[in-house]
Amino acid sequence: MNGVIDDRLASVFDDVVRRNPSEVEFHQAVREVLETLGPVIDRHPEFAEHEIIQRLCEPERQIMFRVPWQDDAGDVHINRGMRVQFNSALGPYKGGLRFHPSVNLGIIKFLGFEQIFKNALTGMPIGGGKGGSDFDPKGRSDAEIMRFCQSFMTELARSLGEYTDVPAGDIGVGGREIGYLFGQYKRITNRYESGVITGKGIDWGGALVRTEATGYGAAFFLQEMLATRETSLDGRTAVVSGSGNVAIYAVEKLQQLGAVVVACSDSSGVVHDPAGLDLALLKQVKEVERARVEAYADRRASARFVPAGNVWEVPCHVAIPSATQNELTGADAATLLRNGCIAVVEGANMPCTPEAVRIFAEATIAFGPGKAANAGGVATSALEMQQNASRDSWTFAHTEARLEEIMRNIHQLCHETADAYGAPNDLVTGANIAGFHRVAQAMVALGLI
Ligand code: GLU
Repeated sequence: MNGVIDDRLASVFDDVVRRNPSEVEFHQAVREVLETLGPVIDRHPEFAEHEIIQRLCEPERQIMFRVPWQDDAGDVHINRGMRVQFNSALGPYKGGLRFHPSVNLGIIKFLGFEQIFKNALTGMPIGGGKGGSDFDPKGRSDAEIMRFCQSFMTELARSLGEYTDVPAGDIGVGGREIGYLFGQYKRITNRYESGVITGKGIDWGGALVRTEATGYGAAFFLQEMLATRETSLDGRTAVVSGSGNVAIYAVEKLQQLGAVVVACSDSSGVVHDPAGLDLALLKQVKEVERARVEAYADRRASARFVPAGNVWEVPCHVAIPSATQNELTGADAATLLRNGCIAVVEGANMPCTPEAVRIFAEATIAFGPGKAANAGGVATSALEMQQNASRDSWTFAHTEARLEEIMRNIHQLCHETADAYGAPNDLVTGANIAGFHRVAQAMVALGLI
């Protein structure tokens, strides 16, 4: 990772920018991968010969559709829905749905592109895709959420299937939304096709640990990163950004592994709790009441709420950005280093800006890129698909043990690949090359399609 795209790949990047104007997040995600792939072309000229990288940057299919729905007052709203089916060389398209007002095609494409490599790193038979809508679920009633999900799925259903494309959740899409989406799919197709969507409820085809998986997985990955540096999480101060599904379960596993998590956040501000977050209270506020983090601080004497605060100003040894893309800037990276941070692991997708990643690399602190570190979510989705295919349901302990093993393997693969390519400890390079290698080999084998 040196911030430079190899001459042979520069035209690929130029084409991506020309063909996808103003999709800045997509450009950013492609650029970061291309910067690390030069050495792979040296060793594998066949990948260049088959134009694998050019093909990888162009989604196999992009679907966009209108989502009309009515609110509780009877007013009509129109949102835009989309699904980018990016690459299916390793298996059916797999990736979440994001419902957030910021969603546009460039964001879905960046997420879909990342998902190809992430899913390849899991070693499981899943391709890469992503979808979503610019619908804002904030403040909407259950009935409104249901009507929106039904309208969204009425259009998307024709493009899905357990062997075709298997969505799951992402920001704004959790168990409740997956239920309404699956219900509408079942109604339209007249098929109880459990494997068509993951993140389902436990009583109707879901898998234990799927809810916890992304956050747990990031904590396991962090544990592995620290172990290679002969240290551990025990007694470490941790800061997590966000307070959604990834953040909450990262906090849970970090605490179990001996860390003290002293801060989290949401779009309204930061909670700083030097005594260590009370996880039961955080879950009550966020999962049960669907309230803002301020409500946590109101009920906890040791906690302070900082409206519109910056969570990265809270001193910590380890930081887990788990909110959204580009939330941790170069200035934040400098602050973290000044405060003694020794490791950063991305719970969210691309939460650190390129400048932040460069600063961490120069300081040689441990850095775990999202496409490796947050792969536990989608890996456990693949475990859910396995259980659905065999009409089986595994215990929590068994599934968690599988998740831990998968995260250990991903870390080892990234670490060894970085070494093999002369970039020791550079897990960005290791993750990109290892993920790319798996997809590229499959694409060569499948011919020009
Ligand atoms: N949205 C999650 C991710 O970014 C999970 C995707 C899935 O389980 O399919 O990986």
